[in-house]
Amino acid sequence: MIPYGRQSISQEDIEAVTSVLKSDFLTQGPQVPLFESKIAQLTQSKYAVAGNSATSMLHAACLALGVSESDTVWTSPISFVASANCALYCGASVDFIDIDPDTANISPKALQLKLAEASQVDKLPKVIIAVHMAGHSSDMEQISRLARKYNIKVIEDAAHGVGGSYLNSPLGSCKYSDITIFSFHPVKIITTGEGGVATTNDPNLAKSMSLCCSHGITKNKVDMQSSEEGDWFYEQQSLGFNYRMTDLQAGLGNSQLTQLASIVEKRNLLATRYQSLLLGNGIKVITPLKDSVSSYHLLLVVLPEHCDRRAIFNSMRSADIGVHVHYIPIHLQPFYHKLGFRKGDFPNAERYYQSCLTLPLFPDLTFEQQDYVCNTLKELLS
Ligand SMILES: *Cc1c(COP(=O)(O)O)cnc(C)c1O
Repeated sequence: MIPYGRQSISQEDIEAVTSVLKSDFLTQGPQVPLFESKIAQLTQSKYAVAGNSATSMLHAACLALGVSESDTVWTSPISFVASANCALYCGASVDFIDIDPDTANISPKALQLKLAEASQVDKLPKVIIAVHMAGHSSDMEQISRLARKYNIKVIEDAAHGVGGSYLNSPLGSCKYSDITIFSFHPVKIITTGEGGVATTNDPNLAKSMSLCCSHGITKNKVDMQSSEEGDWFYEQQSLGFNYRMTDLQAGLGNSQLTQLASIVEKRNLLATRYQSLLLGNGIKVITPLKDSVSSYHLLLVVLPEHCDRRAIFNSMRSADIGVHVHYIPIHLQPFYHKLGFRKGDFPNAERYYQSCLTLPLFPDLTFEQQDYVCNTLKELLS
């Protein structure tokens, strides 16, 4: 089976992890701060806080922005469930903004309308979480303009997006948001096994997320309220969690980062090739906005409306092609049904879900494999 995605682990990566194993620190050593500083540098952000997953960092980000019981958070229905669950962890409510079918990202138009309505009834969200599907940046200029107008905070869920850019700024620069989140799960662009990072330019948000990842405890003398001296001393200042990244993970991440540029380049080469191979078959390839570079976590296509996606999915799988579907709209999950969401609530997201298909895309996918994927799909559609 040709998988839809796959990590690339080099000999250097293996040696990097081995050397951490032989070092004094398996966790809370030098690799995590090094990884954080490399991510801050890469994204041109002031602060990067590493944690054990993007999900944890989404939770930490919501808490840092003060999301609580009385608040609502809005996100895209076409995302992994973590983009919405993070608000529920804080006791807040979730609502969704329908997508633009051309980008599979939040529609700025739908956002504008929903904000105007919410403002009338005094039900504005505290935070908007914009998801960069497949690594293609959302229209952050529009989203941040609207958010500023209504005094709403913005988180970018760039779980798919490390290594990409938008209007000449790297994703994670937080030029258009308060916090950006990356995932380093193996299926994403580069990996730490499990892991996530939050970037921000606000020192208070960085501090708050960092405390959140380690029980709310600081060992930093300058941050302490007490003047107690002694090397044993630490202070718990908030209620945090153990969301820490280990040095083993960060060691792998530091090594993987050296391959990021070439991985993104390879993914883009393959994505461009997909576009030309699939041209003229009624297949729409979801591509990034102009003036942005995607890291192409996923190759998303929308099949012609008349065709039976289920049948095509099954035939592709029978041909040993690991196609996938990203994503089942979050609001259609049984858990969200219990919260009151219904089929028909976000029609563009639901229509997209009916005909979308994810084709294999990872750096080691060969042209031969890619030709086979495209020829098989075209034959099924003819
Ligand atoms: C993968 C993913 C997450 C969660 O990432 P983890 O690191 O696995 O917790 C969040 N949001 C989106 C859009 C994702 O694809």
